[in-house]
Amino acid sequence: MFRSLKLGKVFGIELFVHGTFWLLPLFVLFSGMADGDGLAAVGTDVALVFAIFACVALHELGHALAARAYGIGTRDITLYPLGGIASLERMPENPGREIAIALAGPAVNVVIAGALFSGFVGAAFLTTWTPSEQISGFDLFFSRVMLANIVLAAFNLLPCFPMDGGRVLRALLATQLNRVRATEIAVSVGSVVALGFIAVGLYASHFGLILVAVMVWLLGQAELASVRMRARARAMRDRMSEWSEEPTGTPSTPVSPGFTGLAWDDARRVWVQYDSGRAVRVIDSSSPS
Ligand SMILES: [Zn+2]
Repeated sequence: MFRSLKLGKVFGIELFVHGTFWLLPLFVLFSGMADGDGLAAVGTDVALVFAIFACVALHELGHALAARAYGIGTRDITLYPLGGIASLERMPENPGREIAIALAGPAVNVVIAGALFSGFVGAAFLTTWTPSEQISGFDLFFSRVMLANIVLAAFNLLPCFPMDGGRVLRALLATQLNRVRATEIAVSVGSVVALGFIAVGLYASHFGLILVAVMVWLLGQAELASVRMRARARAMRDRMSEWSEEPTGTPSTPVSPGFTGLAWDDARRVWVQYDSGRAVRVIDSSSPS
């Protein structure tokens, strides 16, 4: 029912619109009509939704192109009613790169807002505008697009993991702490911010904000789980590589001839694997687990 519609390819990255996205312009259309707004006003609001989501797509493209600069591909960019997601093939574990990729999205919105602002200033110089003159519908529309881009940049920079600001926070923490701990702290800070969204959403009866908060919280928990799993897999791999090391020296603990299995070497604080009475591998117990 909610199939994604492929819009095309931008810089070789497939751009999709998720089936649920259409609920947003439909909601704007019907709520405008229910409020008794004129056809022109409702049409402008729907056009504004599409203009803002074009900017959201460019924001995601910013992330994708920054990732590409570090050799990380993007599977696709998909637009949902709550925003867009650029599915990067992986996240860089280098904090500087993660910050650059996270900031590239909001930077696009800042550039769009700046370009529109320059356009307004340029137009004001070229035309003799008087305060009594009515602002044209064209100017009003693009001033709303400009404002939306400022809000998009500011909102995404809130320290709410896994939103862009939360990623910057995690990367900054990761310069001092291990990645799992840095993610745990970023997710905790993000949960507090998400609770703030819920409080504001309840106060202002803004259902969309509550939904965003719940989504952000769920995505944060999912990413924390995946970071923990990867760390565990890495620790396991490290231990496996130690298994393949040849034992050195003579084991202090004698084992019976022909013994096959593991024996604890108290002097060296290692487990030694024996095969038919011969020590074949050691495992360093001090390795992280
Ligand atoms: Zn972003």
